[in-house]
Amino acid sequence: MTPHDFFRRIEAHARRHPDEVAYSNGLHSATRGALWAAAASVAAHLRTLEGRAPVLVIGHKEPEMLAGFLGAALAGRAYVPVDDHLPAGRVARIREVVRPAAELRAEDIRRLAEKPVPPEPPAAAGLDDPFYILFTSGSTGEPKGVVITWRCLLSFLDWLMAEQKFADRAEVFLGQTPFTFDVSVMDLYPSLLTAGTHVSIPRHVLAAPRELFALLEGTNPTTWVSTPSFAAFCAADAKFAQALLPRLRRFLFCGEPLPEQLALQLLDRFPQAEIWNTYGPTEATVAVTSIRVTRELLAAHESMPLGCAMTGVRVYPGDGQRGPLPDGERGELLIVGPSVSPGYLGRPDLTAQKFFELGGERGYATGDLASVRNGLLFFHGRMDDQVKIGGHRIELEDVETNIRQLPGVRTAVVLPVRRGIHVEGMAAYVLPESRGGESDFQLSTQLRKALAARLPAYMIPKRWIFRDTLPTNASGKVDRKALLAELEIKA
Ligand code: AMP
Repeated sequence: MTPHDFFRRIEAHARRHPDEVAYSNGLHSATRGALWAAAASVAAHLRTLEGRAPVLVIGHKEPEMLAGFLGAALAGRAYVPVDDHLPAGRVARIREVVRPAAELRAEDIRRLAEKPVPPEPPAAAGLDDPFYILFTSGSTGEPKGVVITWRCLLSFLDWLMAEQKFADRAEVFLGQTPFTFDVSVMDLYPSLLTAGTHVSIPRHVLAAPRELFALLEGTNPTTWVSTPSFAAFCAADAKFAQALLPRLRRFLFCGEPLPEQLALQLLDRFPQAEIWNTYGPTEATVAVTSIRVTRELLAAHESMPLGCAMTGVRVYPGDGQRGPLPDGERGELLIVGPSVSPGYLGRPDLTAQKFFELGGERGYATGDLASVRNGLLFFHGRMDDQVKIGGHRIELEDVETNIRQLPGVRTAVVLPVRRGIHVEGMAAYVLPESRGGESDFQLSTQLRKALAARLPAYMIPKRWIFRDTLPTNASGKVDRKALLAELEIKA
């Protein structure tokens, strides 16, 4: 697919079936015709602005956000999705890095859409032009922006759509993740390109099981795209079964390890649905490996495989020279090919640490430990301090740096609370500067509140432990191993 094909397909669906619902979030929906017309109005507005700087699209799963994304692309600009619950300080950092040409919220896009415009051809887009920029937690305490080009996006979509063979005008995609998480790209664009219906679950529904189940039942999805954590949350209710979602034919999981227990439970409850485990970092565009998970596969392997690399991309545990390690040996997982990002926006230093060139192709060192057995990749955890909690990617140093900057904190260490390889949450060990008479509970409430002004809610540690000193190891550094052992939850 070329950028031209991408627009042509979405536009053709909008022209042929203007009144079909393209997108809904349970409360608001948009037809194909309205969405395309709104995108054209956004593009017309953006064309009046100088240069090609990106556009921030701020909100939470409103149909207008989608019009904002398409409108930016039509005008030849990258978009940056920003969650409207992100603390202002964090948004300010993003703004400083991006220097956006415009910031659009749902109400701005609605206003622009009130002025229909005659259709104009999309701006010429080269494969190396950025399509979107996604900000993710950075170990320096600042978010870092991963630049995804047209080449990255289209190589991912070509592979996914060929592999999954989504039926034209027949799919209802259920998308759990917000647009600020790239798993959403797995449901959003395949839906637009195959004239499917996209149902995105807004956060207030995710938090209310009764409403959530009503929405699931009412929309009757055919393809489910989520983190395993979300499916596990749904599966805690026995009603989550084929009778509730009779048309469901496919679960696509990404973003964190898929527990075998969950896969087995879903295989039992949804006899007509396939279950797919896919793996990939934001830096290599959503997913770069996949495998269909069956009972036979699980019986044949001790742990959940990540599967095989997508077409045209090499994914392998590397040795010191970036060559592949022999079967069975563990090493850092490297990704080399067209879906790898050019790097982090405005951060050549960070880009040079993680990205490389190999044989004329772009490569990324994931920080994931992996091995190959019988042609399948297996994941063995992280090599650094990045964790996944409920599917959210968090650098522990990001949280730590932000806690250290709070008033009254001398220093702090943030560690994962683990049950086996599964991370259940974070704990902050804090050395307060000087204490008045307040209790630990009062102090932790104050710090949580102060931290919430700097970081999104999922980055606030659940446990707060106050100490006068922290244990040190032989080299005089904080003994993280000793603290980790204190925190581990025995299975
Ligand atoms: P993100 O950039 O948020 O997509 O996070 C990427 C990281 O999530 C990877 O580097 C892995 O550590 C983890 N991850 C993603 N998918 C999987 C999977 N299927 N199994 C295990 N870990 C995964």
